[in-house]
Amino acid sequence: MKYVLVTGGVVSGLGKGVTASSIGVLLKACGLRVTSIKIDPYLNTDAGTMSPFEHGEVFVLDDGGEVDLDLGNYERFLDIKLTRDNNITTGKVYQSVIEKERRGDYLGKTVQVVPHVTDAIQEWIERVAMIPVDGKDGPADVCVIELGGTIGDIESMPFIEALGQFSYRVGAGNFCLIHVSLVPVLNVVGEQKTKPTQHSVRGLRGLGLTPNILACRSTTALEENVKVKLSQFCHVLAENIVTLYDVSNIWHIPLLLRDQRAHEAIFKVLNLQSVNKEPALKEWTSRAELCDKLHKPVRIAMVGKYTGHSDSYLSVLKALLHASVAWRKKLVVEWVPACDLEDTTAQENPEAYKAAWKLLKGADGVLVPGGFGDRGVQGKIVAAKYARENRVPYLGICLGMQIAVIEFARSVLGLQDANSTEFDPNAKNPCVIFMPEVGSKTHMGGTMRLGSRRTYFQVSDCVSAKLYGNRSYIDERHRHRYEVNPEMVTRLERAGLSFTGKDETGQRMEIIELPSHPYFVGVQFHPEFKSRPGEPSALFLGLIAAASGELDAVLQGSNTRKVSRTNHINVNGSIKYYQNGTILDGNGVLNRFYTNGNGLHL
Ligand code: GLN
Repeated sequence: MKYVLVTGGVVSGLGKGVTASSIGVLLKACGLRVTSIKIDPYLNTDAGTMSPFEHGEVFVLDDGGEVDLDLGNYERFLDIKLTRDNNITTGKVYQSVIEKERRGDYLGKTVQVVPHVTDAIQEWIERVAMIPVDGKDGPADVCVIELGGTIGDIESMPFIEALGQFSYRVGAGNFCLIHVSLVPVLNVVGEQKTKPTQHSVRGLRGLGLTPNILACRSTTALEENVKVKLSQFCHVLAENIVTLYDVSNIWHIPLLLRDQRAHEAIFKVLNLQSVNKEPALKEWTSRAELCDKLHKPVRIAMVGKYTGHSDSYLSVLKALLHASVAWRKKLVVEWVPACDLEDTTAQENPEAYKAAWKLLKGADGVLVPGGFGDRGVQGKIVAAKYARENRVPYLGICLGMQIAVIEFARSVLGLQDANSTEFDPNAKNPCVIFMPEVGSKTHMGGTMRLGSRRTYFQVSDCVSAKLYGNRSYIDERHRHRYEVNPEMVTRLERAGLSFTGKDETGQRMEIIELPSHPYFVGVQFHPEFKSRPGEPSALFLGLIAAASGELDAVLQGSNTRKVSRTNHINVNGSIKYYQNGTILDGNGVLNRFYTNGNGLHL
């Protein structure tokens, strides 16, 4: 196993996670199998209890791990499935050390940060790096480890010490340290300043870690003399200094690294010269370029609580982007603060109320994402009502599904006091209730329904089943406590709401649809977590296509995920695979085609 450690210096928010994922993409494109570990030096055991406003979204894994959003970047970029142990936090490490101490494993010794905590960190890394994450057997070739925070933070010290020891433990040729730093450009002269990087490299060395490669964030490419200076002062070979200058979209980062031969520098450090392969990044290149060229907008109103901080809904945004690029539309996200749609805002802040409604009404589609707590719930309910009544495409995720059910019960069944017991524990008509998973051996004590669960389609003739390629079941990730009250299902169904997906017991409602509406779908799960750049999530694709007035084109194809490789045609010299009106090219990009007797046209 070879290890690539990515650290960050100078300031936070340099895009260290994206850089580390891009390095993984580059190595994977050279034919290596890649896994990753994210270290978060905070004390929380996991990200589950952290506010999305402060820390960004909580990403959910198949195994139910609630982890840092960077793991989402890794899964999307590398098309892998990580485990909860791929996210190490100070809380987790101390917990394991303290448990060992209580068990008496330290044989009467004084338990200390060095060596006990640092040993635990190293053992954790070695163990987790071996877990296969790409669906193949056996361990990966390379493990990319990202150390969160900035060099010099007090809380990351035990990790730095452990990683310093680790570099010796695995030996030269098996460990490559990439330091991501900032080269600011000052004033009108536009001079690129190296001092902050010099300082942070000095800090790193002072802590016993030697960088092999510098990845410098800057607005433009590094000037040659700046590289020479950095090389001299930081003791890093000039050819091992790459610039990550600002690009139009993040898919360009792996390309930027390849253009600067970062893979060759890494291979030299890791003694992997034998790999010596030109990275296969054709798919990435065309997608990155396509994304820049899209011009026909599709406007999606995101009606959420944390609209001031886009990281709070990172995976939802990515899933929207994957779908809109696949459908060749330029994604425009209109952030609508849910509270601003409420009647109380009309009185207290009429301007905000007017602005929010203007955005909602100007949108081609409405998305209500997941959420907890009652702030903004009424605003989300009126957004769902607006979408339902005006036949505007709607996708409700988790809470977004629950509020759609509440809205339907209130407006269509006339149950004005219908509510979720999350918001009104004494609701007279509780259409959404607390339904803990009892008897679950793996989830003892926990009340949250977390991770991958199976949904069975109840009928094949429904939009969601078709979008998922007519499969009989799907596995998607969950993170919720409340669910549609099974006792109210028959009444809701009689009034026209379809429950098209349920769990294996038939008691948990997973998917709702309004057959009389062009596209009104709510899901108890979070399809955003499994969306990939080259394989957009089916329901997001449905939303984007419906919002573009083109849902039929997707449904005719009916299988947008698995296109039979036997149906192929030659379009302008390249082979494309097709099925009934849609073509999925090698980049996972969907193209519609038509025939006019003279062959096929895109
Ligand atoms: N608060 C709701 C629940 O716990 C929805 C959760 C969510 O949207 N992730 O069921």
